[in-house]
Amino acid sequence: MSEADIPLVVAGLRHSFEHGATRSEAWRRAQLEGLRRLLVERSDVFEAALLADLGKSGTEAQLTEIGFLVSGSDHALAHLARWMRPRRVAAPLVVQPATAKVLPEPLGVALIIAPWNYPLMLLLSPLIGALAAGNAVILKPSELAPATSRAIALHIPDYLDRRAVAVIEGGIPETTALLAQRFDHIFYTGNGRVGRIIARAAAEHLTPVTLELGGKSPAYVDDSVNLAEAAKRLVWAKFLNAGQTCVAPDYVIARRDVLGRLAPKLADAILELYGNAVQGNPDYGRIVNDAQFARLTSYLDEAGIEPGAGEIVVGGARDAESRYIEPTVLAGVSREAAVMRDEIFGPVLPLVEVEDLDDAIGFVTGRDKPLAAYVFSEDSSTRRRWELETSSGALTFGAPVLHLTVPDLPFGGVGESGQGSYHGQRSFDVFSHQKAVLSKPLQVDTLGPTIMPPFTDVKDKLVRNWLGKLR
Ligand code: NAD
Repeated sequence: MSEADIPLVVAGLRHSFEHGATRSEAWRRAQLEGLRRLLVERSDVFEAALLADLGKSGTEAQLTEIGFLVSGSDHALAHLARWMRPRRVAAPLVVQPATAKVLPEPLGVALIIAPWNYPLMLLLSPLIGALAAGNAVILKPSELAPATSRAIALHIPDYLDRRAVAVIEGGIPETTALLAQRFDHIFYTGNGRVGRIIARAAAEHLTPVTLELGGKSPAYVDDSVNLAEAAKRLVWAKFLNAGQTCVAPDYVIARRDVLGRLAPKLADAILELYGNAVQGNPDYGRIVNDAQFARLTSYLDEAGIEPGAGEIVVGGARDAESRYIEPTVLAGVSREAAVMRDEIFGPVLPLVEVEDLDDAIGFVTGRDKPLAAYVFSEDSSTRRRWELETSSGALTFGAPVLHLTVPDLPFGGVGESGQGSYHGQRSFDVFSHQKAVLSKPLQVDTLGPTIMPPFTDVKDKLVRNWLGKLR
């Protein structure tokens, strides 16, 4: 499909939506079941594509992409009837007798734009919500994960209603052409620079947007916890997908003595999870492209040379040919170091010293609001302070990354890390309009004697009496 076809594709989907093709519960169920079948029957195709794009192992692909989506489809199928049901709300005395309800209705044609790091999951997870809510959808996979993009474009039409779901492959020209069209919702996952482009284009049509962005998610560790277990969970969350995870712990902050004891535990955990020949271990992924590889290795090149860039205390090996970067820990990193400026988005974990809890909280609140904050502390007053004094898309205690497995927890950012959230019923709500429906019988005049002119003394008293009660 070329850029020139885009207006026609959008018009076709809009026609299907406006003629009611996507509204029934039966259609929505059929699509969710089709999506589930696609994931199960084409599992091997997607696994191979994720291996080609990111060196992702089959198990990791199942855990974080394919299986995650199957379970998301099942969740939507199990709850769809309840999500679609109108919700009765109380009507105040002044309009009685009357009934009031909130009726969720589909928005229309949605555009979903995904990045390359979880190229299947981040495209199809919002799709679950969009289909459950009864929308027509255009999917725009990331051109930087070309094998996955191809597999999606090839197989989606065999499993989902072609009249209502289309895949447009491509990069900036195609996305720009798409953004010139009017959509009823745009759901974008990626970086904040492009997020601003999306928001500007959407504003032209007053289209609502969800922006799932990134940022530097901190991990704070104190000495009240089992450091070996904390290290193991940090290592898993950081080096999953070779660090290319939006909610990966970006850096660790802790007191100097805690960092001193944590660093060897991080080394032990890397050895336990990936062995001592990581390059040959199929469980460990690769960097997506040469540009990202060059950016990440510049942090390693600066270590030990640039003041504040830290010392490599674990890892540091790389291979440009296969875009392999060993799980790496940098100690003694200053707050101003290059690696502490932008989101790292790769397998490099800086350890940054803080004086105490106040200093740690001040450090985090002095920066952009992160997508997640991870706290390792058994101390209840410390936990409480992180809950009340910091702001982030999510906050977990002892469980980095795992919040996104809980369907009823909203997944999304705040400030620079994004706006809006999804997962579970929220995915349905994002792609629905909550229509207010009020119904009042006409047989008897119940409004004339109270709220309509002419305003008599009796009505005036009634109104003042009512307002008086409100004061
Ligand atoms: P990317 O380069 O694949 O871009 C994302 C999408 O934007 C792609 O589909 C691409 O075609 C499109 N795009 C790129 N440039 C564009 C332009 N000029 N105009 C219009 N569209 C354009 O991925 P990325 O942005 O490098 O992804 C990594 C970022 O995404 C990181 O910051 C990461 O934290 C964030 N992220 C966030 C989440 C989340 O759920 N919040 C998940 C994954 C990644």
